[in-house]
Amino acid sequence: EKLYGVKRWGAGYFEIGPNGNLHITPDQANPDMRIDMRAVIEEIKEEGIQFPVVLRFHDILRSQVAALNEAFISTIEEAEYQGRYQGVYPVKVNQMREVVEEIVDAGAPYDYGLEAGSKAELLSVLAYNTNPESLTILNGYKDEEFMRLALLARKLGRRIIVVIEKFSELLLLVRLAKQLDIKPLVGLRSKMTVKGRGKWEGSGGDRAKFGLTISEIIKAARYLESEGMGDCFKLLHFHIGSQLTDIRAVKEAINEGARIYAELYRMGFELEYVDAGGGLGIDYDGSQSTSDSSRNYSMSEYVADIVFGMKEVCDLEGVPHPNLVTESGRAITAHHSCVITEIVGEIRANSAEVDTVAVEGEHYLVKNMRELAETVMSQNNFQEIFNDASQWKEQAMDAFKLRVVSLEELGKIETLYWRTMVGLQKRLKAEEFVPEELQELDYNLSAQYLCNFSVFQSAADTWAIEQVLPVVPVSRMNEEPTENCSLVDITCDSDGKIDQFVMSGGITDVIPMHTLKPGEDYYLGLFLTGAYQDVMGDMHNLFGRLNEVHVFSHDDDPQDFYIEEFVKGSSVEDVLSIMQYNPQFMAQTVKREIDRKISEGTMQPREGVKWTDFYEDCLSGYTYLKRARQV
Ligand code: PLP
Repeated sequence: EKLYGVKRWGAGYFEIGPNGNLHITPDQANPDMRIDMRAVIEEIKEEGIQFPVVLRFHDILRSQVAALNEAFISTIEEAEYQGRYQGVYPVKVNQMREVVEEIVDAGAPYDYGLEAGSKAELLSVLAYNTNPESLTILNGYKDEEFMRLALLARKLGRRIIVVIEKFSELLLLVRLAKQLDIKPLVGLRSKMTVKGRGKWEGSGGDRAKFGLTISEIIKAARYLESEGMGDCFKLLHFHIGSQLTDIRAVKEAINEGARIYAELYRMGFELEYVDAGGGLGIDYDGSQSTSDSSRNYSMSEYVADIVFGMKEVCDLEGVPHPNLVTESGRAITAHHSCVITEIVGEIRANSAEVDTVAVEGEHYLVKNMRELAETVMSQNNFQEIFNDASQWKEQAMDAFKLRVVSLEELGKIETLYWRTMVGLQKRLKAEEFVPEELQELDYNLSAQYLCNFSVFQSAADTWAIEQVLPVVPVSRMNEEPTENCSLVDITCDSDGKIDQFVMSGGITDVIPMHTLKPGEDYYLGLFLTGAYQDVMGDMHNLFGRLNEVHVFSHDDDPQDFYIEEFVKGSSVEDVLSIMQYNPQFMAQTVKREIDRKISEGTMQPREGVKWTDFYEDCLSGYTYLKRARQV
C-alpha cells in the first residue's frame, strides 16, 4: 500500500486489502462497504465481457455530490452566511448520460444543477435538468440557436442563466429576448487578473480566452439597464482554471470576484449569484502539494475559503451575501471510474540471447565485449565499463553496415552488451554514488509491460499534457513486486505509453510490478479517470470506446456488489462506420473473393464459409485484443 501510495491518492475510496487485492469503499458515509476489485474482475470474466473495461462506481459519484454540497451547507451555517449554495455540474467533464443522470439524481435534495458549454451540451441539459429550482448555467461561445434554446428553457420555467463571454453575445440575446418577449437571466463572466497556478493557468489573466474586461462588464450592465433589462442581470461569473494547485489562487479570485460583485451591487445591479467556476483540484499524485498533479488544500478548505472570503468582503462593503455557485466537475467525477486492463506481454531489450562461445577468427569487437561481460562482476571501474560497452556496440553496428561484422557476430555483441549491463546494474545496487549516465540503466533494463488498451482512448491527458494518473496492480499486492516496468499500449505509436508513475516517494519513470506467471492473468487499474479521460479519448488506430461495467454495492451486505449494467464498447463496425466505411460492403467484397476461390477450386466450400463467418465476426467484435498473453 505504501509503495503505490494508494491511501494518499485514494481519498478514502481505495485501499489494499489484507488479501493483497485492491478494495473499494464507494460510499464515504458507509465505511463498512468494501468491494474486492479482483472479485469484480472475476464476475466480469464469468459474464464473458472482454477487457479492457471501464469500471464505474455510481456510489462514488453520489458520495462526491453529497460531500461537496454538505461541505457548503455546514460551512454556510457555521459562517452564518445569508445566501445558499447552488452548485452546478459542468457536463463537459464527463457527458456520459448515466453519469449526468446519477449526478442529477444525487443532487436533487440540494437543487444541484448542470452547466453546459456548447449547443449539444445545452440540448442535453435541457432534457436532463428538469428541476425548476436548480440552476442551468450556460457558458462558452453562443450563436442564435443557442440563445433561442436558452429562451425556450425560460419559457419552460427553468432557472437558466446565459453567461455572456463576449459583448456581442449580449446584443444577440437582448434582440432575441425582445423579439420573443421572454425575459432572460443573464450572467457576465469576468476576465480575472488572478491567475490560477498549474496546467490550466491560461484561464485567467489579460490573455484569457473567455470573459469581459472590467470596462466591458460596466458597459454590458449599463446596456442591459438602458434596454430596461437591468433586473435580468443575475450572476457574476469567473473561472481561473481547472485543477487549481494552490489555495492562494482561490482566495485571491474570491476576493477579486467579491469586490466586483459588491461594486456592481452598489451601482444598482442586485445580483443574486456569484459563480466561482471550477478549479477544485484532485490529488492525483497523493503529495498534497502544489505539484501540477496535486493540490495543497482539501475540499472543506476550498469551501471555507469561498464562503468566508465572500462573507468578509460583503460585510465590509455592506452588501447582501449572494447565493454561491461553483462548477466543480473534476472533483465530482475523477474518482468514480477506472480502467482495468490486462498485461498481454512484455518487451525487453535483452529478452533473447544467442550462443556467445568464442570461435576461431571472430571479430575483435566480439572478443572485447565478451571480456567485459566476463569481468564486470570483479572490476570497479563502472563508468569505464559502461563507456567501452556503449562505444563497442556502436562501432559494431558501423562495422556491420560496412560488411566487416556478420549478422551472427552482431547478435553475439548485442547479447554480451546486455549481459554486461545487467552485471553493472547488479554491482551498482550496492553503491552509494551512481554516476549520472549509469542512473539510466534501471530504466533501460526495465521491462515494458504491454497493456491491452490505448492511451489515446483511455488516458488522453497522460499523453497530451503529461497528466499523472495512478496505476496499480489489482491483486498480488501482498507479494513483493520485483519487476521495474514501464507500460506501453497496443497502438502502433511510440507515444502510446505511460512512463510517469505515482509512487509513495514521488513520481518515478518505472513502476514495480510482479513477474508474470504463465497461465495467470495480471490486471492493472488506471485510476482517477472519471474526469475528462472518460470522454476525451480519440480513436487512434481505430481503438474505440471501452466496454463499461457499472458496479453497485448491496445495501444489505456491505461486502457484496452487483453489476447493474454492462454498456457495450465500440465494435469494429462502429469505428469503421464513423470513418465512413461501409462494413456490409466490406463483408460482401471479402465474401465475393472467397466465393471466387471456391469456384476456382482452390478453397473448399466448407472452409470458405468458415473464413466468411470469421471475417464477419471480427467486424462485429471488440476493437481490442482478445485475451492472448503469451509469456
Ligand atoms: N467551468 C468552466 C467555465 C470551465 O472552463 C471548467 C473547466 O475548465 C469547469 C467549470 C470545470 O472545472 P474543473 O475541471 O476544475 O472541475
